[in-house]
Amino acid sequence: MIQTATYTALCEELSRSHTTLIAVSKMKPAGDIRALYDLGQRDFGENYVQELVEKQAQLPGDIRWHFIGHLQSNKVKYIAPFVSLIHGVDSFKLLTEINKQAEKLGRNIECLLQVHIATEETKFGLDEKELLEALEYYTAQQDKLQHITIRGLMGMASFSEDEAQVRAEFRSLKALHHLAAKSYFLGDSRFNILSMGMSGDYKMAIEEGSTHVRVGSLLFGNRKP
Ligand SMILES: *Cc1c(COP(=O)(O)O)cnc(C)c1O
Repeated sequence: MIQTATYTALCEELSRSHTTLIAVSKMKPAGDIRALYDLGQRDFGENYVQELVEKQAQLPGDIRWHFIGHLQSNKVKYIAPFVSLIHGVDSFKLLTEINKQAEKLGRNIECLLQVHIATEETKFGLDEKELLEALEYYTAQQDKLQHITIRGLMGMASFSEDEAQVRAEFRSLKALHHLAAKSYFLGDSRFNILSMGMSGDYKMAIEEGSTHVRVGSLLFGNRKP
C-alpha cells in the first residue's frame, strides 16, 4: 500500500527546497513501485542487489535506480548496466571495480562516497581521514578512473531521539562536502549531491543542506522487521 496523500504533500514540500526525493522501495513489491511511478515518481532506491535486479527487469526503463545499500565488489557487475547512482561507495577497491564494470559497458557510473557520521558502530562508511584519503587516491588516479563520476557524499545519522545529535551529524557531513568540493573538485560543478535524510529526519537534513532525501516507510508503510 502506498501513501498517496503523503507522497503528494511530500513532493510539494520538497519542491520548495529543490530537494530530490528518492523513494526507498526495499522489501516492497514491484506493484507498489509501479503505483508510485504512475503518480510521477522516477527515482527509486534499493538496498539489495538481487532484489534490485529482479525489480528492474519488471519495471519501466525510465526509472532512475539508486543503489543505497552496502555494495560488495563482486556484485557490481549485476547492477552496472542500469544503475543511475551508487550511494554507498566506501572503499578504493569498490570504486575501482565500478570503474572496471562501467568501462566494459562503455558507461560512466555516478557515485557518492559514504561517510560514517552516526555514533552506531554498525553503519558503513568512511571516517573523515579515510574520505580525504579516498579523494587523494581518486585525484591521483583520475586518468584511470574515466568511467566513474563522484557526484558527492552520502550519510546516515544516528537513530536517535536526540535532535541536537542528529542535526550535528548532518552538519558535519555538509561541512565535509564543502571541504571536499573546495579541496578536490574546484571548478567541477558535478560534485553537488549531498544524500542525507530518511523518513524520520528528512526535514532536519534539508535544513542542514541535503539535496537528496531517501524516504521509504513514510511512502510505502513500515517494513516487516
Ligand atoms: C532503508 C533506508 C532508507 C529509508 O529508510 P526509511 O526510514 O524507511 O525512510 C534510507 N537510506 C538507507 C541507506 C536505507 O537503508
